[in-house]
Order: sequence, then C-alpha cells, then structure tokens
Amino acid sequence: MGNPKVLNNYGSFDVTFVKGQGSVLTDVNGKKYIDFLAGIAVNCLGHNYKPLVKAVAAQAKKQIHVCNYFTSDVGLAFADELLAATGFEGVYFGNSGAEANEAAIKLARKYGQLNGGSSRKTIVTLNKSFHGRTLATLTATGQDRFHPEDFAPYVQGFKTIEPNDYEGLENAFDETTAALFFEPVECEGGVIPVEKEWAQKAAELARKAGAIVMCDEVQTGMGRTGALLASDALGINPEVVTLAKAIAGGVPMGACLYRGNGNVFKAGDHQSTFAGNPLACAAGRVVLKTLTAPGFMEDVLRKGEYIRNTVKGWNLPCVVDVRGKGLVIGIQVNKDPAAVEKKCLADGLLFSTAGSDVVRLVPPLNITMKEIDAGLAILKAGLEA
Ligand SMILES: *Cc1c(COP(=O)(O)O)cnc(C)c1O
Repeated sequence: MGNPKVLNNYGSFDVTFVKGQGSVLTDVNGKKYIDFLAGIAVNCLGHNYKPLVKAVAAQAKKQIHVCNYFTSDVGLAFADELLAATGFEGVYFGNSGAEANEAAIKLARKYGQLNGGSSRKTIVTLNKSFHGRTLATLTATGQDRFHPEDFAPYVQGFKTIEPNDYEGLENAFDETTAALFFEPVECEGGVIPVEKEWAQKAAELARKAGAIVMCDEVQTGMGRTGALLASDALGINPEVVTLAKAIAGGVPMGACLYRGNGNVFKAGDHQSTFAGNPLACAAGRVVLKTLTAPGFMEDVLRKGEYIRNTVKGWNLPCVVDVRGKGLVIGIQVNKDPAAVEKKCLADGLLFSTAGSDVVRLVPPLNITMKEIDAGLAILKAGLEA
C-alpha cells in the first residue's frame, strides 16, 4: 500500500494519480475516476481549470514567494477582494486549516485577556467537531478518538457542548468563556448541519456572557454550502471565520478573518514564513472571482438538491439518512461506508467517509450534470452491493 518511504499516515489506497480534467481524474494506468472528493473539498474548481492554471503560471513567472517583511501586489489585492466579498475588517493569511484555526484560537485568547483578563480563556466547541491536527486544534476537536494518550498533555482551556441541543446551551457560557467556535456543518464528524435557530441562540448567549463567536469554515467556506460563507446563511455575523481547503483551489492556503470585537490582533501577534504566499493569493483571486460570478451559488444549491433528491429517490434499504447543504452531502448508511468507498473506487468513483457511518460527497463546485450522473450511477451500484 502506498509508498513505503512516505509515512503511511492515511492508510492510502494503492492508486496513483497523474492528472485531472474537470471532475475526472486519471491514474498511472490510464484508468479514469469521477471525482466526488475534490481532494477533500479543496479542488473547488475541479482539475485543470484554465483561468486558475493560467493565473498560477503567470504568477510563478513574476514571484513565487515574498518575505512578509514586505507586501506583494497580489497579496494586497486578494486581501481587499476577500474582505469586500465577506464583509470582514481584516485577515491573517496562513497556509492550512489547522494554522488558520490556531490563529483564531490565539485571537480568542487575546480577546479574553483584553475583556476579563486571565479568567476569560475558555473556548467552547461542539461534540463531533473537527478543527485540525496541531495540538491546540486537536484539543478543540470534539471527538475522543482524536485524543489518544500518545500525544498528551493536550492544551488547556477547551470545553465541548452538544450541537443542536437547546437545553445544553443554558450552562454553556459564563464569564470564563472567550469564544464559541464551531463548524456551520460538522463535515468530518458526519455531515451534521448546525440548525439556524440553535446557532442564533448559541451566538446570542455566548455574546451575552461576553464571548465572541467564531466559525470554522475551513470546509464549509468558499461556496461549499451554496453561500460564500455558510455562516452568512445562519445570520449570526461571527466575529471570526477561518478558511482554508478550497480558498486557493488546491494551492495550500488558509485565512483567519476578523471584525468588530474580534479585531484584536496587533503587529507581531501571529506570523508565518509562507503566509500570504503570492502563488496562493493569485490562485485565491481566481477562485473568489469565479465563485462570486452571477448564478454560481444558485448552481451549487441546485446541484446539491439534485444529488440529495436522486439518492433519496433510490429508496435503498441501506440508506438511513441523506443530508447536508449545497455540495457537502452526507449519506448515512447502515453498513460499513468504507466498503462502499472501496467498491466505488474500484468502479471509478472517488469520495470519502465521515464519522463512522456516513458516505461524504464533496465534488468540485463546478462539476457538470453529466459528471454528476456518471458518478451517481457508480455510487448506486456501490450502495446496492
Ligand atoms: C480539514 C479541516 C481542518 C484542518 O485543515 P488542514 O488544512 O488539514 O490543517 C480544520 N477544520 C475543518 C472544519 C476541516 O474540514
């Protein structure tokens, strides 16, 4: 399995890809696969999307990296465009989801220090959440299987509550709470959407207790749910939103957006050598421009509905629930989702699982109806097997 010289971290499948076109990938043997995975919600514009390839190539000719003691033209432009599109006041650019969330965690701690001192430090996260693989983001992750003794001690100052549980909200926040931090849809945890009413109540109570509200939109952000930010659709106006995965269409990048009471970072508070890399910013500009073009989000919503309705319409006995928002789709099954994943991979369809019993589909946002139908045919056979 995989390459013995590379740490076999991922239990990788024995498939080696060489190229992609649209939502179709090709492996070393020339076999083609429909891509319902998109590099885990990263390749939001699919593969070999011409304007993206062109922008990255053109940027590589100009400058690939600039030391952050200076700014780059493309970095400033992307920051302006991203803030204008999202309504935030400032952004910290990073290189990954975990790093964007580390920035948010530090920001919340600083907010707490400025608004209550050393007693206001706790960050409240949700059960079944996923926030990353660094020590702080692992601790923030509300799933015990991510907390083996091997990596102890974990970081202090996190507390977990149950999503969509109204009673649990009553004692969730107090004068020690610095921030409420959650994914609008818990993706890795099993594609569990946070209810709008619950999110609004939670945000209101958190703020009443003096805390800020932060959304981890590393997976839900950049159009995945049919809105540029999933938190926009919740109507909670978070002080902080983190992004990564799709933000630069496949070039590594993360971002921590902040405004209002979340605008507490000062020069020197957080830094990274690669942060705001010109290559990533050039890619990010194309992604943002494409996603914000008229009709794009309506298309994402329409395609998501089509996939959910089609799967529901099959009325398969193994399907327990079909859920999600836009193009993050969870199919809860009463059998091993990993076996379905394996069979579909052999048949030429890529996707991943989430939680313990969910098939997760996160195709490129610009996937065509033809590619969707081709993938769904393979998925149906895989679920029926
Ligand atoms: C993938 C993911 C992360 C971690 O991002 P990395 O780039 O792998 O560090 C954090 N939060 C959410 C919601 C994610 O989906």
